[in-house]
Amino acid sequence: MKNITVIGSGTMGNGIAHVFAQHNFKVNLVDISQAALDKAIATITKNLERMVAKGTITEEIKSQTLGNLTTYTNLKEGAANADLVVEAATENPEIKFQLFKDLDSFCKPETILASNTSSISITKIGAQTKRSDKVIGMHFMNPVPVMKLVEVIRGYSTSNETTQAIMDLSVQLNKIPTEANDYPGFVANRILMPMINEAIISLQEGVAGVTEIDTVMKLGMAHPMGPLQLADFIGLDVCLYIMRVLYEGLGKDKYAPCPLLVNMVTAGHLGVKSGSGFYQYTAGSKELVVAPMFK
Ligand code: NAD
Repeated sequence: MKNITVIGSGTMGNGIAHVFAQHNFKVNLVDISQAALDKAIATITKNLERMVAKGTITEEIKSQTLGNLTTYTNLKEGAANADLVVEAATENPEIKFQLFKDLDSFCKPETILASNTSSISITKIGAQTKRSDKVIGMHFMNPVPVMKLVEVIRGYSTSNETTQAIMDLSVQLNKIPTEANDYPGFVANRILMPMINEAIISLQEGVAGVTEIDTVMKLGMAHPMGPLQLADFIGLDVCLYIMRVLYEGLGKDKYAPCPLLVNMVTAGHLGVKSGSGFYQYTAGSKELVVAPMFK
């Protein structure tokens, strides 16, 4: 594989494009928004400059990485020569289903179509195409250039060849891939989100306050961040959405979203992105500015 097309240039798309380009793949980055593409190139440049300053990469690697990137607002042009497409567009089933139908008709027959989805069924995405054996989940973690894991998700029809190709490619990117089957939440969110939900239930029931819950999990379990602060970082709306996917997909009460989480999202307290969640933040910053909302 030489030519990679990354669809969506937001938080995940720019990181995925960065990592492929740094490992000397030719990357076409596609977004419907020119502003998003401009922002992505600015972010990648800034991240590469930080790596040069730290001595992790040379100035030459930085220039080579940027030289490997081309941006497009037209999907057909951006995907025409792809050996692999990694889709990282907005987490909305309708958007992804349409993209995979289009990619199936625009791409070469042998092109592998991967999705970075956190929660949408790979089997359903594959069913939008006539090549479901070549459709797979390639779930990177945020921030992509830093996090080592790639969760590789096999849809019901994904072939062994496609899975092996993506496992090998992840190793080429200096990542560590793990294989999972296509059930709601895969492995990462199947385990992480119920833990966050349980932390919110503990808060709601008055078992302990925000600081106490986060401190127990940080100091007691050696987690780098407490579950409530992590929920603020991920976005409470995203946490709620994924809990609903688990609840509907697995049909068990233990996955029911906590009513406090539902209330906070309904009231617009989404975490870092809205400036307030379980903690408060300066707009657009991850810096905590005041004590926790709940005590
Ligand atoms: P984001 O909102 O930051 O970026 C999404 C981008 O997709 C936007 O720039 C938008 O303009 C673009 N887009 C929307 N429709 C498009 C289309 N039809 N064609 C091309 N571009 C289109 O989202 P994100 O956080 O980067 O998430 C992207 C994907 O990655 C989602 O599936 C999400 O579930 C998954 N994911 C996110 C995280 C995370 O921490 N943010 C982690 C793992 C996986």
